[in-house]
Amino acid sequence: MQKTINKSFSVAGITLHSGAISNLSVYPATANTGIVFRRVGLKNSNEETLIEANFKNIRVSDLCTKITNKYGISVSTIEHLMSALHGMGVDNAIIEVDCDELPILDGSSLEYVHNIEAVGLKSLNVEKKYISISRPIVFSMNDSFVRVSPSDNLEIDYTISYDHNLIKEQRFNFKFKDSNQFKNLISNCRTFGFKEEVAALRKKGLIAGGSLDNAILLDKEGIVNNGELRQESEFVKHKILDFIGDIYLLGYSVKGVFEIYKGGHRLTHEIINSIMSDYSNWNLLSEEDFGDRKYNTTYQTKSLAASL
Ligand SMILES: [Zn+2]
Repeated sequence: MQKTINKSFSVAGITLHSGAISNLSVYPATANTGIVFRRVGLKNSNEETLIEANFKNIRVSDLCTKITNKYGISVSTIEHLMSALHGMGVDNAIIEVDCDELPILDGSSLEYVHNIEAVGLKSLNVEKKYISISRPIVFSMNDSFVRVSPSDNLEIDYTISYDHNLIKEQRFNFKFKDSNQFKNLISNCRTFGFKEEVAALRKKGLIAGGSLDNAILLDKEGIVNNGELRQESEFVKHKILDFIGDIYLLGYSVKGVFEIYKGGHRLTHEIINSIMSDYSNWNLLSEEDFGDRKYNTTYQTKSLAASL
């Protein structure tokens, strides 16, 4: 059954890229609303301020996920909230925000998850639908690839590769079981960055609000932040957190296996568009349709524009 939250909650904090203060409130919504953002404090009409969390609204962005409606109203850095909503099983919610960027909080989804747990979920007595991958496809872009295949579950097998002693090649296979497992294994994993890239990003007008309170910072020797990592393989698990958020822009919870090598927001956005552009790639199914489906096991291959 579809779910929403029992009652609203609010969160506030500095934004990563602009360094502004952003206030947001998450409200319960009726069945089949999906996840919808509403920008408050603008002079536009109500309709013009609504931005559906849907792949059709994704705009090109390298360091975060940004959605823009047909009136040009946008909201960015939505991926950590989207991950919390997907991972905790919130199908319907309206998010009001007074800024064009969401707060970065501690660089993870933890504060959202705690709030969702505190207010609880309620069933809306309307069948829940899933986007289900219906045939195997391999997407490649430069030296990155994503191998997608059908499954009755959501499984993300992610590999990152960085020229840094603490990371090198890090891989984690996350088979989604329930919201508790998402909370314990993934939701508190923080975003990370490299000290040597900070000046260049700031010059571009990015990460003005970035600090050791909202990201793991790495220099050549190791971790600049005080304290331990929160999880073993926190780096790759944060990439899985981002992916769970970004893939929710399909508009529904997702069933399929995603094997990702050196991914990122851009690659995820490209594969979402590519999957949805062909009806033989996916189905919209309800829970009772899973169980004894027969799958095609021959991979289709698809090269994406090598423009990362
Ligand atoms: Zn992230």
